[in-house]
Amino acid sequence: MAFVNENYLKLAAGYLFPEIARRVNAFIAEHPVEGKRVIRCGIGDVTEPLPPASIAAMQRATDELARRETFKGYGPGTGYDFVRKAIADGDFRARGITIDEDEIFLSDGSKGDCGSILEILGQGNRIAITDPVYPVYVDSNVMCGNTGAHRGDGSYEGLVYMPCTPANNFVADVPKQPVDLAYLCFPNNPTGAMIDHERLRAWVDYALKNRTIILYDVAYDSYIRDPSLPRSIYEIDGAKECAIEFHSFSKNGGFTGVRCGYTVLPKSVVGYTKNGQKVPLNPLWTRRWNTRSNGVSYAVQAGAAALYSPEGKAQVKQLIDFYMGNAAILREGCRKIGLRVWGGENAPYVWVETPERMKSWDFFDLMLREANVVITPGAGFGACGEGFFRISSFNSRANVEEVVRRIAALKFAAVKA
Ligand SMILES: *Cc1c(COP(=O)(O)O)cnc(C)c1O
Repeated sequence: MAFVNENYLKLAAGYLFPEIARRVNAFIAEHPVEGKRVIRCGIGDVTEPLPPASIAAMQRATDELARRETFKGYGPGTGYDFVRKAIADGDFRARGITIDEDEIFLSDGSKGDCGSILEILGQGNRIAITDPVYPVYVDSNVMCGNTGAHRGDGSYEGLVYMPCTPANNFVADVPKQPVDLAYLCFPNNPTGAMIDHERLRAWVDYALKNRTIILYDVAYDSYIRDPSLPRSIYEIDGAKECAIEFHSFSKNGGFTGVRCGYTVLPKSVVGYTKNGQKVPLNPLWTRRWNTRSNGVSYAVQAGAAALYSPEGKAQVKQLIDFYMGNAAILREGCRKIGLRVWGGENAPYVWVETPERMKSWDFFDLMLREANVVITPGAGFGACGEGFFRISSFNSRANVEEVVRRIAALKFAAVKA
């Protein structure tokens, strides 16, 4: 008889995106004509093809694998030096931050990293997460037994929830009590909010004082338009003692299907044993990678490194400019019909208050029925998301313009209803 990991049984049923898919499929089955008009602005997946520099690099890498003289088998478990150097130079040294190559760990994407980092952290940590939140942070903690039971309102016993609301501009305040781990994501998914240096410094000061480790997710860093805002937590003095940063090539290079990302774990970040002994985390994470993985495929790493070439950078910028053009259109479209709008200025997500205090899922159903547009109900990201919805700017320009036209017509329908 094999026992199961019973923590999985605590997971709330009906994960957000399957529930959205279920409702959309039911609508299409019942309304075949309207079903053909459905535009999906729900899931945060990119729509544009890969930058040509990455494609060419992956093709060259594949050619190398095709010849005995240049063939490559197992690579280093934490990533090839050429990629780690491109990252350390391009994302850090170019901005005056010193990060060493051996503080960078290549992976198959940061969703996995956000969960597997828990392998090197102990049991019993007090964990702070924002509300609303990217569900991966919560569910991965549930799976490894860091929470109690599900409460039915979307929350779990044992987690410290940090409300993000219009009152704090959707930027979590530091908790009143000490916590051991805190997840932050800026630019934020789902709210599109961005933090400034001053508030990020407050977080780093809090972490240093309480010996908290900040798990800082910057999957959307390349969407930051305002040059005065921090692109990395390591822009803040002291962050190299208390923060682990999660990067992804999914949203800048369009690697959602290719799969590549990296973590930064500075050698100065420490955890503690139960009897208070300091333990640097970088060697544990290195060991974890070399034991549990043989790393990312050579061709994919070559494709990722190419994003740092001059052509790669220009092509990524073009992609981001395109999506941010969509975000501006969506923001303006919602604002014009009198909705309150956040995000979409340094992030690809626009976060909108529902009209007439409608519940998120009611508004989701209304949008699907009346406008044939799929949005993401804010309540799916946490209790504080209730009364809001997220629109993603990952779409074609034509679709985005059509969505705005339909939303404008919907206002009339909503008022009439
Ligand atoms: C998309 C996304 C990621 C990146 O996921 P990958 O596994 O790298 O594709 C990480 N964090 C957030 C908040 C995201 O939205």
